[in-house]
Amino acid sequence: MKNIAILGSTGSIGTQTLEVVRENGDLRVVSLAALKNIDLLEQQAREFKPGLVCVYDGKKAEELKERLRDTDIRVVTGMSGLIEAACVPEADIMLGAVVGMIGIQPTIEAIKAGKDIALANKETLVCAGHIIIPLAKEKGVQLLPVDSEHSAIFQCLHGERENRVTRILLTASGGPFRGFTKAQLENVKPEDALKHPNWAMGRKITIDSSTMVNKGLEVMEAKWLFDVDYDDIEVVIQPQSIIHSMVEFEDGAVKAQLGTPDMKLPIQYALYYPERRFLPGKRLDFKTMTAITVESPDTEVFEGLKLAYEAGRRGGNAPTVFNAANEFAVQKFLDREIGYTDIYRLIKKAYDTVPFIEDPTLEEILETEQKTYEVLS
Ligand code: NDP
Repeated sequence: MKNIAILGSTGSIGTQTLEVVRENGDLRVVSLAALKNIDLLEQQAREFKPGLVCVYDGKKAEELKERLRDTDIRVVTGMSGLIEAACVPEADIMLGAVVGMIGIQPTIEAIKAGKDIALANKETLVCAGHIIIPLAKEKGVQLLPVDSEHSAIFQCLHGERENRVTRILLTASGGPFRGFTKAQLENVKPEDALKHPNWAMGRKITIDSSTMVNKGLEVMEAKWLFDVDYDDIEVVIQPQSIIHSMVEFEDGAVKAQLGTPDMKLPIQYALYYPERRFLPGKRLDFKTMTAITVESPDTEVFEGLKLAYEAGRRGGNAPTVFNAANEFAVQKFLDREIGYTDIYRLIKKAYDTVPFIEDPTLEEILETEQKTYEVLS
C-alpha cells in the first residue's frame, strides 16, 4: 500500500489522480488540499477518507469543518495547513498539483520530511529549482515528473543513466492559434484561448498553452529536472500531441514516448515508478493514424517562448518575474481587463522594472512575486 498526500485535489490533475487511485487497489489517500471548492472536497473526503483535509481559504475551511463533523477528518487551513497536508507522517509521496507559486513552500517542506514528490506544479521548479533540486538530492527523495512532456523524457531516460544526453526535444501542440499572425492574436478572446485542441486542463494552463508561455515554463522545468543547458533544449511543434517528447543521445539515437493524450498515464507512472500498470483507455491505432508531423515554433508571434528562454538563461529571480507577471496578466485577461498580447507586454514590463537578484532565497522569491504584482498593478 502506498500512501499519497494530494495538494490541489479538486483541480484537473487532482481529480485525475483520484481516478487513478480509484482504479488501483493499493493507493491510499492520507490528505487532500484545495483552495475553496469545498463541495467537491467534501465528496472526495467522504469517498477517500483521508485523516486530514486542508482548505486554504479560512472561511471555507470553517464551513467544511462543520459539514464533516460526523467524521474523524481533521480540517486545517492557510499555508500552515497546506504544509501539514504535504507532510502528514503516513504519506510516502506528495502529489503537488496546486496551481501557482503557492506550491513552493509545501513542496520544500515535504522534501525536508523525506517524502517523494510527484510534481505537476511546474511553477515550483521554475522559481525555486535552485533550492529544490539540491535539497531533494540531500534528502534522497525522488522528484517524479507529472507534466506529460517531462514524464515522456523521464521514461526515455529510463535505463540510460550512464549515457550522455545531447538534446531534449520538448514537444508542443502549438495550441489553438498555431499559424496565427501577430495581428490575428490581437483579437483573441478568453473563450477562444480556453479551447485547447488536444488536452482538457485547468484554465490557467490552457491560456498558458495558447500563448506558449506554458512551453517556456516547461523548458525551465526540464532544465532543472534533467540537468541540461538551455542550448540543449529544443521545442518542436507536434500538432497531433502523439509524441509527448524525445531525447537525443550522443550517438545520434533519438528515443520518444508516444501515446494518446491522457494525463492519467504520467500521473500513474509517477505514482508507481518504475513499475508500469494497466491503464484503461484508448490506445494509439497506427493503422488509422494519418500523420505525425513536426514543425518549428514561431517565436516572433508566440513571444512567450522567447521570453522564457531569456528568463531561464538570466537565472536568479528572472524566472519568478516571468512566472508572476504571466500569472498576473492571465488573470487580467480572463477578467477581460487586458487584451491577449498584453500578456507578453506585461511580462516585458516586469522584466524591465523588478530588480534582479542573482541567487534568491525562498523569501526573496516570494518578495519578487509580490514586487512583480505591485509594479504591474
Ligand atoms: P486547476 O486550476 O484545475 O486546479 C488547481 C488546484 O489547485 C485546485 O484543486 C485548486 O483548488 C488548488 N489550489 C489553488 N490554490 C490553492 C491554494 N492556495 N491552496 C490549496 N489549493 C489550491 O489546475 P491544473 O490541475 O490544471 O494544474 C495544476 C498544476 O499542474 C499547475 O501548476 C499546472 O501547470 C500543472 N499541470 C497541469 C496539467 C493539466 O493537464 N491540467 C498538465 C501538466 C502540468 P480549488 O479547486 O478549490 O480552487
